[in-house]
Parts: sequence; C-alpha cells; structure tokens
Amino acid sequence: MTDAVTVIPAEGAPRPLVFDSPHTGMLYPDDFRPALDMAVCERVNDWFVEDLFGAAPAHGAPLILAQFRRAYIDPNRDITDLDLAMVADGWPHPVVPTEKTGRGASLIWKMIDGDKPIYDRKLSHAEVSNRIKTYWRPYHAAVESALNAAYDRFGKVLHVNCHSMPEYGNPVFGEGDMRRPDFVIGTRDGTTAGDAFTALVVENLRAAGYHVGVNEGLKGVELVRRYSDPAAGRESLQIEVNRALYMDERAITRSDNFAQVKADLTAMIAALAAFAAA
Ligand SMILES: [Zn+2]
Repeated sequence: MTDAVTVIPAEGAPRPLVFDSPHTGMLYPDDFRPALDMAVCERVNDWFVEDLFGAAPAHGAPLILAQFRRAYIDPNRDITDLDLAMVADGWPHPVVPTEKTGRGASLIWKMIDGDKPIYDRKLSHAEVSNRIKTYWRPYHAAVESALNAAYDRFGKVLHVNCHSMPEYGNPVFGEGDMRRPDFVIGTRDGTTAGDAFTALVVENLRAAGYHVGVNEGLKGVELVRRYSDPAAGRESLQIEVNRALYMDERAITRSDNFAQVKADLTAMIAALAAFAAA
C-alpha cells in the first residue's frame, strides 16, 4: 500500500452511504517535474472539500480522500482517457479520447486552464504506468471496496462524489461570463442516480437558500459513471460546490462563510444518512 489514499471509516451505526473527494490531495510525487509553476498547477485542486464534507464519518459513511494532487494524475478520468501525444515511447493499451482530452484535462493533465502547458517534455511509458499503478488504482480500489462493503451489507448503496468548482466558467472554452450556481448536482443526465436520491440533495440545499443546478454543464465524470447501476441499487451523484461560497480563490484561504456552508452540508449529510437508512 502506498500513501495514495486515506479512508476515514464510518463511526457508529453504518449506513449504505459513501463519500469520496478525489481532488483534495496535496502530495506531489518527485517525478511530477512540471515546467509550469506549482502554484498554477495547484489551481485545479478542490480546496477544503474534505473539510466541507468532514461530517460524513460521524453520520455512518466512510470518507475516502486522494492524497496526490489532481494535476499529477486525475482519478476522475478513465485510464483509457490518455492523450497519446504526451507519451514519448508508445502506449500498448486501449485509448478512448473524450471531450476532456480536447481540453488538456484527461487522465494526466496536459494544460491548466486549457492554455498553460504543464510539461516541457513527453512522459515515458514507465512514468505513466507508475502513476496509474501507484496512485490511480489504489484510489479506485478504496472507493470500490467501500461501495461493495456497503452494498453487500445493505443490498444498496448511495455514493456522493464531492468536488468544488471555480466561481466562473473558463473563458478559453467560451464560458467566461457565466457565474456558476452555488451548487451543481451531476448524475450524467439522470443515468447514475435515481430521482429520490437526487431530489433529496437538491431540495435540502435549496431549502438552505442556495441556487442549485442539476446537470448544468458539470454532469459528473468517471467516478459516478464507473460505480453506478441505479437499477441494481447502486447510485452515484456528484456535488460541485462553488468556491466563491466558502473560500478566496486567489489567496487559497477559507472565507468567513466557510462555517455556514459546512454547517449546511452537515445538515444535508444527516438528511442523507436518514434517507439511506430508510
Ligand atoms: Zn473535482
């Protein structure tokens, strides 16, 4: 085992409920060697999300945290979503480019903000393989194991995949003037979670006064796709929290509103724990 992932176990009565935060890790392995300033690479992290959702274990749900930074390898991409132009000496495995590849934001990110190259070199086959084996796979193994443990015990499981998003869309992709909602809930257009689970999250946040979008631009990517099968009782839902709600995106500090947002999310987690137990 490596330092790739931390699992904070559930306390008290377990629920068929699992939270994961794939983008809050702070570790840069030595072989990252970006050409771009580290402070720019860090901007794709989901700052403080592990703290915002930190009440999950006290409500019977494990919380799984990636320890490595997203710019090194992104656990919210399939390992087939690799940009072969980044690999120096060939890649023998299947590759299926996605819309994220075009944005420079696939398994191993090529660009920050779509226009700032991270590397001034190609990566070797060995480097890419190591990132997958040492970081991506242990993270996924931890998520899958927690989901299966809950499913085996309860015959169902609800998975909440936790993220944060910049206040505004990216101008490089023509989204610059769009202030995002306070929260965006993603279910890949209703294919990864059922209506009751989705409605519980949406209505709880709306009742707390937030503007909540559903599948509005940010619909969920690999982690909700890979482990969901609503017909079989496996439901996964992505929550994106607007960073302007709880932090200063330039200073990378929690804002005065952080405690309120965390309290509102804690109330939502409590409601979800009751819903999961029903
Ligand atoms: Zn994220």
